[in-house]
Amino acid sequence: MKKEFWLVIGSQFLYGPEVLDTVEKRGKEMATELSFHLPYALVYKMTAKTGKELSDFVREANYRPECLGVVTWCHTFSPSKMWLNALDGLQKPWCHFATQYNRDIPNEEIDMDFMNLNQAAHGDREHGFIGARLRKPRKVIAGYWKDETVQKRLADWMRVCIGADASRNLKVMRFGDNMREVAVTEGDKIEAQKRFGWEVNTWPVGTLVEYMDKVTDKEIDDLMAAYHAAYDFATDDVSAVRYQAREELAMRRMMDEEGCGAFTNTFQNLYGMRQLPGLASQHLMAEGYGYGAEGDWKVGAMTAVMKKMGEKENGSSAFMEVYTYNLAPGKKYSLGAHMLEVCPSIAAGRPRVEVHPLGIGSREDPARLVFEGKAGKAVFVSLIDMGGRFRMICQDIECVKPILDMPNLPVARVMWKTPGDFETALECWIIAGGSHHTVLGYDVTAEMMRDWARIMGIEFVHLTKDTRAEELEHDLMVDDFVWKFQG
Ligand code: MN
Repeated sequence: MKKEFWLVIGSQFLYGPEVLDTVEKRGKEMATELSFHLPYALVYKMTAKTGKELSDFVREANYRPECLGVVTWCHTFSPSKMWLNALDGLQKPWCHFATQYNRDIPNEEIDMDFMNLNQAAHGDREHGFIGARLRKPRKVIAGYWKDETVQKRLADWMRVCIGADASRNLKVMRFGDNMREVAVTEGDKIEAQKRFGWEVNTWPVGTLVEYMDKVTDKEIDDLMAAYHAAYDFATDDVSAVRYQAREELAMRRMMDEEGCGAFTNTFQNLYGMRQLPGLASQHLMAEGYGYGAEGDWKVGAMTAVMKKMGEKENGSSAFMEVYTYNLAPGKKYSLGAHMLEVCPSIAAGRPRVEVHPLGIGSREDPARLVFEGKAGKAVFVSLIDMGGRFRMICQDIECVKPILDMPNLPVARVMWKTPGDFETALECWIIAGGSHHTVLGYDVTAEMMRDWARIMGIEFVHLTKDTRAEELEHDLMVDDFVWKFQG
């Protein structure tokens, strides 16, 4: 499906047809030029002069699936009561782009005609008020439209809208329930569907086994060829790898038949299966499917959404679990991995296929991909259910090349540090209630996750290098009241 964003420029009849013609011409020029620098087309739709035009526009924007967001800007003054009914009914994400056609004030040319035409400074404030008055969630981006940083922020917002759209069309396939007795992986599926659009449902592992039995040798041969193309084989146990291929093909077929973009499973429910899916889940993640272990559907769905928000809609976002720390002075790092399931999209080099025993789950030795995670700035995202509502916690981190080889660790691993004080960052994560399961994102930013949370209408907590525990505790307490009132 075509994906695009719609631009509406605010004006009014007061200035006469000549000014309106100029506004329209410039609107088209800006949309065309900006589209060269944005990941999706920005389509000029109209210059708004009346409330009727705006209501018609919003009805169309809400209805058209290819319209993923609406960008507004007021070239001239545009009285906001005219916008009120339309904006109140807008269901697509909204960005108020506070920009100006000209960069500089021209010394000789400026007169009252110039001022009447170029009064975005005036018009955007009127436009901003109605957004605030309506309590309408919106992204405000200010700056000159040809500036690279401004265009980058608009591009990022578009990716957030891709994530919002993906979220509202996401189905999650669960093989089995949550790991027994675990709290943070639980959640209210009705509230999740209302907020995020996620349809989360469970299928029997027995059905998956039936699908596995129907996979042909030819299908397995083809997938093995894909494995060989992408990965180095550091095992002679071909049958273990082929078994993972069988699991992958069966899971993919079931998900595709149901239109699911994410899945969960649990090592506690593998009835009829000989291996916990390792390589199988990893390769599905690399192909863009979201995944959460131990039945964690929230992290599975968030992984799928964040992958869509990344570059080329299959970015470097991955299900991650923190395991252990290195606490030596000056070398304070966290080590993350999982039993098997780390997405190879975040690998620093070419992953190796290895087969090792699994300490948990009493099944045959599963094949898995082993690699080091790449270095670079990233974010951790955790979505938790606070009872009646969701909280998103986002922490800035920096991944590093692991400081140790860890030759006996048979899983993919990622090492990171927090900018600022290690202990404070850890205390803040725990105070906020952040999960051990997270989504690690290299190509989404905290600003993007804040924008996504705003569109979805949930609490957003950003842990930065400057976050202090006592201020955070206070903010969370206040937030709790605010969200209770919002219902
Ligand atoms: Mn886990």
